[in-house]
Amino acid sequence: MKILILAGLISLTTLTKANNTLQVPLNKDTIAVKTEVFDPEIATQKYLDTLTPEEKEKSDAYFEGGYWLMLWNVILIIIITWVFLSLGLSRWIKGIAIKAKNINLQNLIYIFLYFLFAFLLIFPLNIYQGFFREHQYNLSNLSFGGWLGDELKILVLTLIFGSIILLAIYKVIRKVKQDWWIWASGIAFVFIVFGMFIGPVFITPIFNRYKPLEEGKLKNEILSLARANGVPAENVYQFDASKQSKRISANVSGFGNTIRISLNDNLLKRCSISEVRSVMAHEMGHYVLNHIHKGIILLIIVLVIAFALVNWCLNKSISRWGEKWNINNIDDIGSLPLLVLLFTLFFYFSKPIINNFSRTIEIEADYFSLNAAQEPDGFAYIAMKLSEYRKISPGHLEEIIFFDHPSGKTRVHNAMIWKAEHLNKPVNVKPQKE
Ligand SMILES: [Zn+2]
Repeated sequence: MKILILAGLISLTTLTKANNTLQVPLNKDTIAVKTEVFDPEIATQKYLDTLTPEEKEKSDAYFEGGYWLMLWNVILIIIITWVFLSLGLSRWIKGIAIKAKNINLQNLIYIFLYFLFAFLLIFPLNIYQGFFREHQYNLSNLSFGGWLGDELKILVLTLIFGSIILLAIYKVIRKVKQDWWIWASGIAFVFIVFGMFIGPVFITPIFNRYKPLEEGKLKNEILSLARANGVPAENVYQFDASKQSKRISANVSGFGNTIRISLNDNLLKRCSISEVRSVMAHEMGHYVLNHIHKGIILLIIVLVIAFALVNWCLNKSISRWGEKWNINNIDDIGSLPLLVLLFTLFFYFSKPIINNFSRTIEIEADYFSLNAAQEPDGFAYIAMKLSEYRKISPGHLEEIIFFDHPSGKTRVHNAMIWKAEHLNKPVNVKPQKE
């Protein structure tokens, strides 16, 4: 599970101006006066107003464009499946694969060629959404060569890990026939958890360089927060995300003894200590509240349902169109394009439910952050910066369907309510310090 905090467009000037408007003086007498006038609704609106109409329009356009891109990706997978099954690409690849004597080798050749052709067919959309569109919205730091290099690395990883898991699944289909989907759910589950375990050690270092936090005041602040919340200091890293993107991010990754919190260098360079502390405390919330383990429980449930539905649809489709598509049975590797399409459709339509789970644990981590870091304004500034890529103020239904994290408006509002409830309490509601 990759948990990202990304950020934004607000200029430093705007931030400083907003800060002056909203900061609460440290003097206790002044706090008592401020308590009477601090209205979380007004404070939230003041934060939202720090986005200029142009910035808001750009943010909305980027995020709403993402809704359509999700649909276009599904449509493209449907077209790719049609090219394979109806235009005869699958039949042609099978003709090549059949020359190998061993069934596993035949399947491996088919899987390899499927991934390669699918990569080529989806490539134009990938260039647009991964390179040109990111540059259009000023979010990418990659040259075309750098972007292509990362894409090729992903292709190689897909070929290696995709081949292993698919070979195992098709072997299970041949062995246990109709009940294959139960076994396949288990195989996919073990494989994904294994991937999570090796991810921070072997996979993410292929793309970025990870190292312990740089010495300095910021490191001391972060490690103090970690110690106070039971997070081992050796489990906190920083990485050079600025190689690919301008986005601010942090994440919790790994499983078992590889679990760790990683902060990206954009966050460390571009944000105040208050902001970094609030992000760090959010990530610690995921860590301390065992969100990775909760996510794993959801994963096995989702996998079993997905494989059961895919099995049902696969059998129905093959019995009806199998001859036309040159698929003899479900254990025929020629069913792979259909398998991929059915999984794509399943995850497209179940996304609002998965988003709901994700948003729930993100809100939990948000409250953990507010309580642990006590930085409601640092938290609100970061939430506003996320408008770089996430629509700041969506409709209620829109947030439920499309948002895997709470919207900026929801986050700022929660932070301001927390602030209002703590202004007359003996806790540190500190002013933002740059
Ligand atoms: Zn999170």
